[in-house]
Parts: sequence; structure tokens; C-alpha cells
Amino acid sequence: SFTPLASDFYGFEAKLTETEREALAGIRSWLETDVKPLVNDHWDRAEFPHEILPAFHRQPAFGMQWDETKSFENSAVYRGWVALELARVDASIATYVGVQNGLALGAVAVCGSAEQRAEWLPKLTDGSVIGAFGLTEPLSGSDSAQGLRTTATREGDEWVLNGSKRWIGNATFSDITVIWAKDTADGQVKGFIVPTSTPGYTATKIERKQALRIVQNADITLENVRVPESLRLQNANSFRDTAAVLRLTRAEVAWAAVGVAVGAYEAALAYTQERIQFGAPIASHQLVQQHLAEMMGNITASVALCTRVSEMLDEGTQKDEHAALAKAFATTRMRETVARAREVMGGNGIVLDYDVTRFFNDAEALYSYEGTREMNTLIVGRALTGKAAFV
Ligand code: FAD
Repeated sequence: SFTPLASDFYGFEAKLTETEREALAGIRSWLETDVKPLVNDHWDRAEFPHEILPAFHRQPAFGMQWDETKSFENSAVYRGWVALELARVDASIATYVGVQNGLALGAVAVCGSAEQRAEWLPKLTDGSVIGAFGLTEPLSGSDSAQGLRTTATREGDEWVLNGSKRWIGNATFSDITVIWAKDTADGQVKGFIVPTSTPGYTATKIERKQALRIVQNADITLENVRVPESLRLQNANSFRDTAAVLRLTRAEVAWAAVGVAVGAYEAALAYTQERIQFGAPIASHQLVQQHLAEMMGNITASVALCTRVSEMLDEGTQKDEHAALAKAFATTRMRETVARAREVMGGNGIVLDYDVTRFFNDAEALYSYEGTREMNTLIVGRALTGKAAFV
């Protein structure tokens, strides 16, 4: 049964339907028992817990956006809470879902033809196919709208892909990777579903990463990779279509950022009640309470903004700038919150067993991926002024 989070100070979860609350309660309890005990050790060893995937794929946290894959009616606010719950336990687990359900599945759902949706969405939803999303390149990150160097050249009924990708989540074990490449004929960005067994495709794990260590990110090289026209996403005709996928996932990264803040806050709050200094739990010292109150303010303001941005998605009024401001705001508040959580834990705040240092490090990746704070700020600035200031 459903018990609201103590950190939901203003009762935002009450906006969910009873069915959504029950589904969320199931996910929360599964995460507590099956996932939470694993995360610090896997983070330490930079290993992905493949063993949890079969049970994970049966949770109502998969394939939730699309009519053909929904297990029950749900709102964007519910899906936001799922991202929060996942990240509250571990940001890497939330990122795995964000890539599989948001970026890879979203690319097929938004840019695929009816036949492509019918073929791939069910497999991505039940986890029988693992997907990745290859946009970023070694020489093109923030400027990927215009700076992609990977090329796609049509030869008869096939396309030949050449280039390289960097930072691609899940790509060390994905079955397919959606590759974004510039068509050498018209110069437009197009998307391709590339089976990772295709000759010429190589993915290499990025080692020694100090944030989101559980997520596996890869460098990918594409050397004369041949894919049939039937695997070109039929409705991806320019970067505008790629951006439509990112708009959907960006708001969920904002929700995940709140989850990271909540996870760190909860660990810090518990610690302040147990840790005795000057003869009293540190929670009774005024300056410690100030940290906790500031953290709660950050969390609450972010949940409020995320709730509204998700409602706008359901209402059909959400624009790029709404998702961009939510992502920039929530990740900035997250960054301050995890730093305060680290601070109230003193030295133990940098020891993995106390959880907070994992949230602290992972926050840095969420802050920069799916559009850095600067890029999202410039998207908002363009909407406010009518002037693009990217270049
Ligand atoms: P750069 O673009 O080189 O930016 C460096 C700095 O310069 C940033 O602070 C940026 O804001 C700033 N900057 C750049 N241009 C401007 C400007 N015009 N004005 C002001 N400031 C500017 N990509 C994928 O395609 N698929 C994935 O699955 C994926 N997963 C990721 C997972 C992780 C853990 C990480 C770290 C990244 C992932 N990425 C993925 C890539 C991610 O989206 C990029 O890292 C991000 O877009 C930033 O690009 P960059 O790292 O190349 O930084």
C-alpha cells in the first residue's frame, strides 16, 4: 500500500491517481529490497547489475509513454515520479531506464513509421531488446544540432554509416543503437536503428568514470556500417525530429535530478538524527537545521516545477523552453542539495557506505547530460528574447 514520501513536504504525490499510487508503491518497494542493497558495491566496481533486469523489466516503469506499449493509463506526472523514485535509490538505474525507455524507445516512437513502431516498441518495452541512443560525438557535444560529423550515404536500398560516437549509455550491451548521422546528399540529420552485431560497428566501454559508475557508457566507431533503408527512422528528416525526442526526455531528467536530491537529503536527515556532537544529535543544532530546510526548499521548488512541466506535456502545451528551464533549474538545485547533504555528514559524507558521496558524484553527470545548464539556459533565453545566442 502507498505511503507518501516524508520528503514530499507539500503533498504533491496526491496529484496521482490511486492506480498510479499503487504502481509507484510497488516500484518503491522493489527498489528498496532488490536494488538498494546492490548499488554501492556495483558503483564501487563500476559494474552494471544485469541480474536485476528480468525483474526490472516487469515493473510498471517501462514503456509508459506510448499508447501501444502502456500497461495502464498513466500521466506524465506519474512517469516523473517513477524517474524520481528510481534516482532516489540510484541515479544510474534511473539513467538506464531513461536511455532505454526515453531516448531509444522514444526515438522509434517519435520518428518511426507505423511498421517500425509495431516491430520495435513491444521489444524495447519488455526489455527483450536493449536500446541505446547515439547522438554525441568526440568532437560534437553541445553543438550536435549542427556539428555532427558521422555520415550516412545512400547506396541503392542501403545506407553506409561512417564516424564515431562518444558517451553512449547502455551501448556496451545494447542490441540496437539509434545512430544519428548527416545524410551526405541533403546535409540533414537522419536516424538509423543499427543492430550492434552489424559488421563495422564497435563499442568500447569508457573506463575510470567518476560519476554514474553503474551506467555503462561507450565510445562507438562506425566503419562502413551497412543498414537497410527499412532501418532508417522514416519520420526523422532533420535535427528538429531528434530535438522532439530530447524534449520528452529532458523533463524526465529534471525529475531524476529531484530524485538524486531526495536520496541525498533522506540519507543526510537520518544521519543528523543519529550523530551526536556537543552532547546532542547534530539535527538539534541550528545551522544543521538550516541546511535541511534549504534542501527541502530546493526539493519542493523543483517538484513543483517538474509537476507543472509534466502537466503541460499531457495538456499538449509543453515547449522546448519549458523542459529546458525545468532541467536547468532542477539540476542546479540538485547540485546545491547534494553538497549540503555531504556537508552535514562531515567526513563520513565522502565514504561510499553512507550513500551521499554516490549521489554527490552522480549529480555531476545529470547536470551535464541531455543539455548542459548553459545550453538549456540558452534555449530559455531564445524563447524570452526571440534571439538565438548559441554561436
Ligand atoms: P561540450 O559541448 O564540449 O561543452 C563543454 C562546456 O562548454 C559545457 O559547460 C557547455 O555548456 C559549454 N558550452 C558549449 N557551447 C557553449 C555556448 N555556445 N555557450 C556557453 N557555453 C557553452 N550522449 C548521447 O548521445 N547518448 C547518451 O546516451 C549519452 N549519455 C551520457 C551519459 C553521461 C554520463 C554523460 C556525461 C554524457 C552523456 N551523453 C550522451 C553526452 C552528453 O549529452 C554531453 O556530454 C553533453 O551534451 C555535453 O557535451 P560535451 O560533454 O561534449 O560538452
